[in-house]
Amino acid sequence: MASIQNITVLGATGSIGQNTLDVIRRHPDKYRAFALTASRSVEQMLADIAEFQPRYAVMADAQAAQQLNTQLPTDCTTEILSGDEALAMVASHDDVDQVMAAIVGAAGLLPSLAAAQSGKRVLLANKESLVMAGPLFMQAVEQGNAELLPIDSEHNAIFQSMPESYSGELSAHGIDKILLTASGGPFRGKSRDELTAVTPEQAVAHPNWSMGAKISVDSATLMNKGLELIEACFLFHCAPEQVQVVVHPQSVIHSMVQYCDGSVIAQLGQPDMRTPIAYGMAWPERIDAGVKSLDLFEIAQLDFMPPDEASFPCLRLAKEAFAAGGTMPAVLNAANEVAVDAFLRQELSFIAIPDLIEQVMKRHAVQHIEQLQTVLDADRWARDCAQQLMTEESL
Ligand code: NAD
Ligand code: MG
Repeated sequence: MASIQNITVLGATGSIGQNTLDVIRRHPDKYRAFALTASRSVEQMLADIAEFQPRYAVMADAQAAQQLNTQLPTDCTTEILSGDEALAMVASHDDVDQVMAAIVGAAGLLPSLAAAQSGKRVLLANKESLVMAGPLFMQAVEQGNAELLPIDSEHNAIFQSMPESYSGELSAHGIDKILLTASGGPFRGKSRDELTAVTPEQAVAHPNWSMGAKISVDSATLMNKGLELIEACFLFHCAPEQVQVVVHPQSVIHSMVQYCDGSVIAQLGQPDMRTPIAYGMAWPERIDAGVKSLDLFEIAQLDFMPPDEASFPCLRLAKEAFAAGGTMPAVLNAANEVAVDAFLRQELSFIAIPDLIEQVMKRHAVQHIEQLQTVLDADRWARDCAQQLMTEESL
């Protein structure tokens, strides 16, 4: 990497976005924030524009873009844009080298795809886009000649633990299986009965990681691990049977690869997303991420246990959705987004989240996905179906 790398940060005001800006901040000689995007956090965007002076700032929300424009200092040269086309434009701009795909949820699909199609280094945090449209996304990476680097800590750990020459077939490299670690979330050890009355505040209070609200709830339901299992299957071209979920409450090991000679290679580190972010940005080199090193004596103990699929059915639902294939993972994802949103607004109980998703999945007639529109239609259908079920039944 000789010249300064221009980076577009999609979802710049979020948890991953802010961690990415912190890594960029530490290496002004190597990286430049070319474009920043957000949904509607005007205050944070104003501060980030002042500090990073990007060429573009895109607000998905038109009103927020207008508000941002009026509050911008007169000497600011950042161009403010809004809407889907602008998001895709900054993700695929000729001057951009790397795109951090860190919008939350299905909204991240189109700009992440645009980055892949235009051959960027895609730093993929937005796992939902792979879950929704895995085959199309991987095809876009190949056709666009993009570099896909996983930022999700587990997938980043797997990537680091695999041979550099990995060709897309586990057995060809003597790999028996991938061990996908999970913290178990804030409700690990609780029975379904004990989960009936849990609140959004309790659900977003993750024991190890500080993250956005949606992924925090996904971690509490274990849907996050379900989405990650699907993500791993697409990223590493493997079958779900080759990915074993291992609950590891300390979140010190971020995932492992088990080889046929008895070796298990793991990546360990602090639960700090700047490590995988910096790894993705600098790969195949390494740069300082601002993360303190592990103190193994302080950790002292590492525990492992199987996931509890009876209390947390979302993992099973994700496996079923992947097995059904086609549009079903997109339906799982969309129903989950509606359910999590309703839970956060206290309109749906915690244990009703998997129930609602399962009912939506039962009503879906799977279609093959050859075109993006099929995925977008399935996403729309699942959202409408979930809303309808919530009004019809007291879930
Ligand atoms: P967050 O809620 O903190 O931030 C989301 C960002 O997306 C914000 O900048 C927001 O303005 C933007 N956004 C939201 N809705 C949008 C829309 N409709 N259109 C355009 N932009 C929109 O989320 P996060 O925790 O940073 O997670 C981002 C992604 O990274 C998710 O896909 C998540 O699963 C993944 N991820 C996050 C972590 C983590 O530690 N936070 C770890 C692994 C993977
Ligand atoms: Mg993860």
